[in-house]
Amino acid sequence: MPPGGAEHRGKQLSLLARFRRELLCSPQMLELLEAIEGSGLAEDPDSAAAINLRELKRGRDRRLRVPKELTTELIETAAKSQREWALAYKTSDWDRFRPWLERIVSLKRAEAQALARPGEPYDGLLDDYERGMTAPQLEVLFEGLRAALVPLLDRIKGSPRQPKVDLLRGSYPVPAQRLFVREVAEMLGYDFATGRIDETVHPFCARVGHRDTRIATRFNASDFTQGLFAVLHEVGHAFYEQGLSPEHLGTPFGDTCSLGVHESQSRLWENCVGRSRPFWEHLLPMARLAFPGTLQGARADEVYAAINRVSPTFVRAEADEVTYNLHVLIRFELERALINGHLAPAELPEAWNDCYRRYLGIEPPTATLGCLQDGHWASGLFGYFPTYTLGNLFAAQIFQTAEKEVEDLGVRIARGELSALREWLRLNVHSKGRSLSSARLIESITGMPPTQEAFVARLERKYGEIYAL
Ligand code: ZN
Repeated sequence: MPPGGAEHRGKQLSLLARFRRELLCSPQMLELLEAIEGSGLAEDPDSAAAINLRELKRGRDRRLRVPKELTTELIETAAKSQREWALAYKTSDWDRFRPWLERIVSLKRAEAQALARPGEPYDGLLDDYERGMTAPQLEVLFEGLRAALVPLLDRIKGSPRQPKVDLLRGSYPVPAQRLFVREVAEMLGYDFATGRIDETVHPFCARVGHRDTRIATRFNASDFTQGLFAVLHEVGHAFYEQGLSPEHLGTPFGDTCSLGVHESQSRLWENCVGRSRPFWEHLLPMARLAFPGTLQGARADEVYAAINRVSPTFVRAEADEVTYNLHVLIRFELERALINGHLAPAELPEAWNDCYRRYLGIEPPTATLGCLQDGHWASGLFGYFPTYTLGNLFAAQIFQTAEKEVEDLGVRIARGELSALREWLRLNVHSKGRSLSSARLIESITGMPPTQEAFVARLERKYGEIYAL
């Protein structure tokens, strides 16, 4: 869509959102839901009918608890605040964005209080993205991560063995990259009869309709790994959408489980597979053919080390596997404090920089590289960030189980044979839709409730080897 179409599209979307709310909150909907409840159709609590009923009632209840005027004001303020944030971001102008953050936070606090269950207000917002998860539960996971990752990062920084990143430098023409990522997506099993790969500014995956799930990536002519990892990530999201059960299409039961589980599918392909040693044994010869004249003298283990280099950065979106969750931890702590009223928006830059000093040992020189870098809060997305980390933890836990259950998984990956893993995920994750909460789904697959342990163990092992710790 050309940029000029954005405003009208925004109006269309908010009209659709209003219609949706009106339908869901209408007395007729209540009558229908009660009729199903009384019919005995939904008696078995694990049946699709019971789960659909529960989810529809839950969605209805949440919408009814927030006054209509507040919802409208939030949508309108978020649209304006997004625009102001984009301008403030370009010029690193915190003072320009501050009054908008103050308005958004005060509206979101009102919404959180309207939605909060017995716990803290923040839980009310978290529930939008990760049903049933609470801030104290997240705190335990994040504390476990912090305790393991901060010392691991120190050991990595102090190691005399550092990957040779120069060997990735080269010229990677975009047309060659287009062909290359297509070839890789085909190797993974991405179905071009029900999908596409296009180009964009921020890579994404979107289900447009039944059997139509599209992904978009971006290319950097001096670094082919950016476009490649974006494709691996988005293909993981697309597999999830393409693997949902067609007979429950359009119902809550047939939908994806949660944002955390969605992100686990992208992270599994991007990191557990895509940044693994066996994968690069297969990929390096393919890359040499795709980009003649580059990567010629490099060995697979050197390229593997180079694509896994750990280095603290200011920007979350560019972070490596070790530091990524520390960026998310910082956002979780700060947004929880903002919503629960323990931090004033005006104090954000100072609190932000303080966290970066403590956890990553660096201090952002500008607001653009600091608290203005993400657009989430400007759009009113509070409670969204933790799902990125949940995705990483779920992915590690699921992959650890796949390694036990898919015979010779490492050998298969080194041969570029990925259908067994894809099929295992379809069976164990994708086809389950929203039949369970994320915590119960993870436990049913792995035999353990969500924990950071598999993730930490994987990183200790992997980076211990790469950095000779
Ligand atoms: Zn993602």
